[in-house]
Amino acid sequence: MHRRTWLKGIGLAALQAAVPRRAWSAAAKAARTVRRRVRPGDPGWPSAAKWEKLKGDVGGNLVEVKPPFAACAADPKGADCADAVKNIQNPFFIGDQPGGTQVSGWLDAWKPQPSAYAVAARSARDVATAVDFARDNDLRLVVKGGGHSYLGTSNAPDSLLVWTRKMNTVTIHDAFTPRGCEGKIAPAPAVSAGSGAMWIDLYDAVTTKAGRYVQGGGCTSVGVAGLVQSGGFGSCSKGFGSAAAWLLEAEIVTADGAVRIANACTNPDLFWALKGGGGGSWGVVTRVTLRTHDLPEFFGYAGGKIKAKSDAAFRRLIARFVAFYRESLFNPHWGEQAKIGSDNVFEISMVCQGIDEATVEGTWKPFFDWAKSSSDYTVEDLEAGVGPARHWWDVVARKKRGSTSMISDARPGAPETHAFWRGDQEQVGAFLHGYESLWLPQSLLASDRQGILSDALFSASRHKEVGLHFNKGLAGGPAAALAAAKDTATNPTVLEAFALVIIADGEGPAYPGLPRPAMDMAAAHADAKEIDLATAELAKVAPNGGSYVSESNFFNRSWQQAYFGTNYPKLQAVKKKYDPDGLFFVHNGVGSEEWSADGFERIGKG
Ligand SMILES: Cc1cc2nc3c(=O)[nH]c(=O)nc-3n(C[C@H](O)[C@H](O)[C@H](O)COP(=O)(O)OP(=O)(O)OC[C@H]3O[C@@H](n4cnc5c(N)ncnc54)[C@H](O)[C@@H]3O)c2cc1C
Repeated sequence: MHRRTWLKGIGLAALQAAVPRRAWSAAAKAARTVRRRVRPGDPGWPSAAKWEKLKGDVGGNLVEVKPPFAACAADPKGADCADAVKNIQNPFFIGDQPGGTQVSGWLDAWKPQPSAYAVAARSARDVATAVDFARDNDLRLVVKGGGHSYLGTSNAPDSLLVWTRKMNTVTIHDAFTPRGCEGKIAPAPAVSAGSGAMWIDLYDAVTTKAGRYVQGGGCTSVGVAGLVQSGGFGSCSKGFGSAAAWLLEAEIVTADGAVRIANACTNPDLFWALKGGGGGSWGVVTRVTLRTHDLPEFFGYAGGKIKAKSDAAFRRLIARFVAFYRESLFNPHWGEQAKIGSDNVFEISMVCQGIDEATVEGTWKPFFDWAKSSSDYTVEDLEAGVGPARHWWDVVARKKRGSTSMISDARPGAPETHAFWRGDQEQVGAFLHGYESLWLPQSLLASDRQGILSDALFSASRHKEVGLHFNKGLAGGPAAALAAAKDTATNPTVLEAFALVIIADGEGPAYPGLPRPAMDMAAAHADAKEIDLATAELAKVAPNGGSYVSESNFFNRSWQQAYFGTNYPKLQAVKKKYDPDGLFFVHNGVGSEEWSADGFERIGKG
C-alpha cells in the first residue's frame, strides 16, 4: 500500500480499459432482455461445473458466503461463535466478512441475507469475469465495498456478490492527468485507491504520511467507492465540498464486462453519474482517483452538553444557538453536529478546519459564557480547541498521547493505522427502527425566519432527537467547492442547504443467528412512528428539502426527486446507455423502478 508509483498491474488494467471488450448495441439489447433472474434450485441456475470454472477463472477467489453468525446457529457455545460475538463491535471485523453488513437490518425493510457466492476480487479482470458470469447466467448481481449501506443495498440473497475488499492499494500522485484529458485539464495532486479501500487508508496515506488533504467521509471504515457514488461528506465538507466533487477519474467494469475509464474527457456522462448517482447502479468501480488539497495547519473541535431546566428555556437555547450559528459558524470552517434531544439536552460535537486556537476559543466564548451564566441551564464539558491537522487521523500518535477518541482494530495482525471514532461506536452493527434525512435551506437562517426554524426544531425534538449535520449541507462553503459539487448528480438542493437533518434510532445488533433477547416489536414500531412525526415537523418548514441518498428513509416514495432532484432524467439516460438490461439493481437506485423489490422480476417494459 501507499506507493508513490503506479504498480505494473494497475498500468495493465488501465491499458485494457481503453478497449471495451464488448459494447452494447441496440441489437444486442433487443436480443437480451432478462425478465426473471434465477435462484438456486431453478433450472437455469449454473451447474456445479460452471461455478468451478468461474472459480478457476478468478484465480480461486470464489467463496460460498455464510452469514457472519452461522457459527452461532451451529454451536452457540463454540469458539467460532464466541469470536464473532467478541468482534461484533469492530467495524473492521464486520467488513472482513464476505456476508458482513455494518448495519444488522432495518425494521420491516431488510435483514442481512448473504449471497450464494462471492468473488473476492483481486483485480479489474476478476471483476469483469464475475460480471460476465452474472449477466450470461441471468443472476442477481450485488456489489460490496465497506458494507456501510443503511439501505441494505450491498447484500441480497440468492445472488452473486462482487466483493472489492481486497482491492485496497493506495497511490499518491504529485501531478495526475485524467486519461484523454492531456492538454485539456492541468495535472493536479491526487490519490488513487482501489475500490475496497476504506477512508482511514486514504487519510493515513494522504494526511498522516504525505501532509495533504483528501475529501472523504467522517466514518473511517466506510468504503471509498460507496461514499464517492453517494456524493459523500466528511467533517470538513463545508470547506471542501462533497467527496464526489473531487473525483478526477474512475475505473469501472460496466454491464457489458468492459473495463472502462470514466473522467471529464472519457465517458463524461458515466463519470458524472458516478459522482453522487448512487452506488451499485452503474457497474463495479474498481479504482477511484481523487484530487488532493493543501492541508490546513489546524483541525479543531467544539463540544459539550447544555441541559435546559424547562421546555421554555430549551426553546430559548435553540433560538440562541440558531442565531449564533448564523452569525459565527455559518462559514467554510465549521462542520459536524449539534443534537437537539427530547430530554432538553443540547449536545455540541462540531469540527473545524483552517482556524487557530485563539479564533476557535474567541468564537465560542460568548455562547458558552451565556449558557454558563444562566440559572436555566446546567452545562457539561463545554470546550473548544485545535490541534495539528496532520495528526488528526494519526492513530499511532493519538495512542502515544493517550487519546481515547479513536478505537483501534485490536485483532492480532490488524494494521496499526486502522481505528474508528469512538462516536461511531454505537452505530456498529445497529438494527434500525427508522432513519430519515432532510436538507434545510439556508433561507431559514435569515433573521426573520430563525424563529420558524427554532420552533420546528423544538417541535421535532419532542418526538425524537434531531441531529443537525452542518457539514452535509454545502451552503456557506467557498465558491470553488460549491462549483465542483454543482457538477455532480447529487440533488442540487445540497448547494442551498446549511445542514442535513438526520433523525434516526434503533437498537443493538440483531444479526440473524446472533444470540440475543427477542426484539420488542411494538416498541420498535412506536419508535419508527416517532421518527416520522419528528420529520413531519421539519418538512413543514423545508417542504422540498431533499434527502441524502445514502442516509435516508428506506420507505421514501419520492426517492428520485429527494435524492437527485432535477438530475434524475439525465441519470436515467446514462443508465439506459451503460446498463440497458438493468444488471446493476439496488433498492431505490436509478432504474430500479423497472424491477420487483428484490431485483429478481422485471416489472417494467425493459
Ligand atoms: C456507520 C456508518 C457511518 C457512515 N458515515 C458516513 C459519513 O461520515 N459520511 C457520509 O457521507 N456517509 C456516511 N455513511 C453512509 C455511507 O457513506 C454510504 O452508505 C456508502 O455508500 C457506504 O459505502 P461502503 O462501501 O462502505 O458500503 P457498501 O454497503 O459496500 O456499498 C454501498 C453501496 O455502494 C455500492 N458499492 C460499493 N462499492 C462499490 C463499487 N466498487 N462499485 C459499485 N458500487 C459499489 C454497493 O452496491 C451499495 O449499493 C455512513 C454509513 C454508516 C453505516
